Amino acid sequence: AVRVRFAPSPTGHLHLGGLRTALYNFLFARHQRGKFLLRIEDTDQTRLVPGATEQLIEDLLWAGIEIDEGPGIGGEHGPYIQSERTELYSKAVQQLLDNGSAYRCFCTERRLELLRKEAVRARQIPRYDNKCRHLTPAQLNDLLSKRTPHCIRFKLTDHEEPLQDMIYGSVHHNVSDNEGDPVIMKSDQFPTYHFANVVDDHLMGVTHVLRGVEWQISTTKHLLLYKAFGWLPPQFGHLPLLVNADGTKLSKRQGDIGIKHFKDKGYFPTALLNYVVSAGGGFEGRPTAKPHLYSLDELSQQFLIERVNAHPSRLNPDLLNDYNRSEIIKRLDNESARQHLVQLVQQLVQQAFPQHPNLDLAESHIVSVLNWASQRLYLLPDLVSSKLSFLWVKPTDCVLENLSNKQLQHLLTELDSVEQYDKDELNTVLKNFAKTQQLKFPLLMKTLRSALSGLTEGPGVAEMMEILGKRVVLERLGECLK
Ligand code: GLU
Repeated sequence: AVRVRFAPSPTGHLHLGGLRTALYNFLFARHQRGKFLLRIEDTDQTRLVPGATEQLIEDLLWAGIEIDEGPGIGGEHGPYIQSERTELYSKAVQQLLDNGSAYRCFCTERRLELLRKEAVRARQIPRYDNKCRHLTPAQLNDLLSKRTPHCIRFKLTDHEEPLQDMIYGSVHHNVSDNEGDPVIMKSDQFPTYHFANVVDDHLMGVTHVLRGVEWQISTTKHLLLYKAFGWLPPQFGHLPLLVNADGTKLSKRQGDIGIKHFKDKGYFPTALLNYVVSAGGGFEGRPTAKPHLYSLDELSQQFLIERVNAHPSRLNPDLLNDYNRSEIIKRLDNESARQHLVQLVQQLVQQAFPQHPNLDLAESHIVSVLNWASQRLYLLPDLVSSKLSFLWVKPTDCVLENLSNKQLQHLLTELDSVEQYDKDELNTVLKNFAKTQQLKFPLLMKTLRSALSGLTEGPGVAEMMEILGKRVVLERLGECLK
């Protein structure tokens, strides 16, 4: 059975690139009825950020990416946090020491530094000279008996291993000879990334590795490690770089590619997922002329790894907004999703206008506002922007200057007879009313705006009426009757 993993280092929040990697792994697993694992790669203890693992899991779950095995979730191949697996790495390293594929290196930091300096002086690329490969058994025993600190290095006898990449096809990357034999276990007993990654993928029964293309040059090294162990390697597929629309690299430093950022702005998970996959392909039937919003289930049904593009995946930010609006419309069309949407709006409004005594939160009102908004807005939080506060905040007491009770009565009858609340139509009605009642139009507008919203500025009154809808307009103006 298919087993894939997402293996982030817990160095911060999940960002778009990480979400994309996790998502493709998840879709691949779901499509093949396999398992999706989360493994935390925290062997570089200097780069840890407290709380990052919890945040990562929270972000994944928010996106709808369910984890079959992982930290806090369990599974047969745990623990799923590398810093809790050190014993397993020690055993694995022993295996390579025993079969002659690895050796202990006692070179001091000082010696390595001298080597580097010498190379620079000779205008050569600095590299470790593999000196400790050649220690005699007697030298080795002597150093060990004195408990001399040491690391363990992998003997690079080969430098190439062909790779059949699921996305890029046949690729060749030679392991650079520049560094000399790579360290696989540091003197503090922590494995390096390459080693722990290979050992874990093997022990966790990972069948397919889907990861960013920046790891592709490491794969040769990984394949050589599999060979040294005598293990069958998983299949590898590397996902092309995710880039901005103009082809420039997405950078964490831009600060706005964190999943939390999109979540806080009010984007729905499905909008973000469709946005991310729209850049890289991988689906049957795509591309369509008009972007279509797919649910996570639909995405997993349609996912085909062979369809993932092998050129950089360009993000189109307009699509994100379009997808989010599509999600709002989709939810409005479905009874239970609509209920949930209404609750979301109620929460937003309550947060935006804390403890306001006069909020208009009736479900029917919210639904009609949403119907209006779904053609004009992209994000739910836009509904509580200061420009639209009149939607929610009813004027507390109504003072109808310049308009008699009788005139208001009359206006209410006129407004009641308008079938479709459309701003052009309403404008005509209001203009006629001002004319027949011999009222100054601007003054009438000022009065009505205040009666409808308690505001002195804002959108035109007819537009305001269109947005509020007939029921609320009649209700708010009706309250001004004495
Ligand atoms: N820990 C690596 C990362 O942070 C994992 C790379 C891989 O998937 O092998 O991306």
